[in-house]
Amino acid sequence: MTQRFTPEARGLGMTSQRARDRLIERLKAQGIADRRVLDVMRSLPRHLFVEEALASRAYEDTALPIGQAQTISQPYVVARMTSALIEHALPKKALEVGTGSGYQAAVLAALVENVYTVERIDELLRNARRRFRKLGIDNIRSKHADGKLGWAEHAPYDAIILTAADDALREELFDQLAPDGVLVAPVGKPGVQKLLRYRLVEKEAGAMWVGESLGDVSFVPLLGGLV
Ligand code: SAM
Repeated sequence: MTQRFTPEARGLGMTSQRARDRLIERLKAQGIADRRVLDVMRSLPRHLFVEEALASRAYEDTALPIGQAQTISQPYVVARMTSALIEHALPKKALEVGTGSGYQAAVLAALVENVYTVERIDELLRNARRRFRKLGIDNIRSKHADGKLGWAEHAPYDAIILTAADDALREELFDQLAPDGVLVAPVGKPGVQKLLRYRLVEKEAGAMWVGESLGDVSFVPLLGGLV
């Protein structure tokens, strides 16, 4: 992926390939083992998904502000969520709720045939679309909408990922999942959020969506309405 990028995308100094390599070593040391995810994050220029003034911090393992009181998620969290999403099978079609900077969608777009992403803040979505175009990413479809209820038009999805937290997950999201699909989302109030992964499990009473906790996380809230 690196070769076809412009010099700006390849980066220099704090945004260089060496900086990305160091981040990947850190992720590995924290237990991220999926080579597919590590390879994508090694080549994707995260510094182009933040404001220029923050570019030198893009390869620190930290969330960063992207404006409108929102953040680009911490690289470890992106790696963890993406690994959890593709662990059992590589999805062909994925839905993300909460486009933000577009970084998570771009990571998914390198692994999944078709990515759909929904963002409620128009300005963030326009910036994200500009980044997709600049990087030549053409398998992401996006919509300015409240994604609490998913994006029914393109369902079913093999994978759904929420990058903002709600107290509980809506039934409509599960309705848009394929039977062998997987949903990964932060759930709970600020300070007590868990990252949950849901898959369909056969029980005596029939198949039901069962969640497993992947650990504690801290996400911005899933909000209603459009900005
Ligand atoms: N995935 C993003 C990235 O890679 O930069 C991180 C996104 S940030 C942690 C969460 C995003 O979810 C914000 O951009 C926020 O505006 C968006 N969001 C919150 N509630 C939403 C909703 N109901 N529908 C769509 N997007 C929502």
